[in-house]
Amino acid sequence: MKYLTKNYEETQKLGEEFSKRLKGGDVILLYGDLGGGKTTFVQGLAKGLGVKRRIISPTFIIMRSHKIDKGEVKDFYHLDLYRIKSKDDVDGLGLDEIIGNKESIVAIEWPERLYDVRDDAIRIYFENEDENERSIEINGRDF
Ligand code: ADP
Ligand code: MG
Repeated sequence: MKYLTKNYEETQKLGEEFSKRLKGGDVILLYGDLGGGKTTFVQGLAKGLGVKRRIISPTFIIMRSHKIDKGEVKDFYHLDLYRIKSKDDVDGLGLDEIIGNKESIVAIEWPERLYDVRDDAIRIYFENEDENERSIEINGRDF
């Protein structure tokens, strides 16, 4: 389904609404240019999952984890692979354990740098239409 948002609050709201469809083991891949609204969407999504901490882009540290208490789901991981050059850059993060784990929900910005692999991931495409207008296409989860 494709959505058009007119400001960042609407994008956050969409992320928050969308979070209600998620379950443990879900992987969300967020595509689109810088400023497309990926992090903004993740802020709403994290809020919907019950994350209290402020969500900032993990660009310089690749990954941030947040504790959540949503039944069997215990952790929300937010990755930004923009600066990744090769798989070596993520060695040591334990991603193989995290991605697809039933106790985790994982959102990945710039997945095309590395993790464009999972067929069962939810893919979301962000496009800048105008200064404050973004089109957001969500593929998966009937949303
Ligand atoms: P990305 O993570 O895709 O690089 P961000 O979410 O960090 O993008 O940044 C989006 C920027 O665009 C923010 O500065 C935000 O205020 C602005 N913006 C303007 N309109 C929108 C909108 N409709 N949705 C999301 N962000 C918007
Ligand atoms: Mg971002």
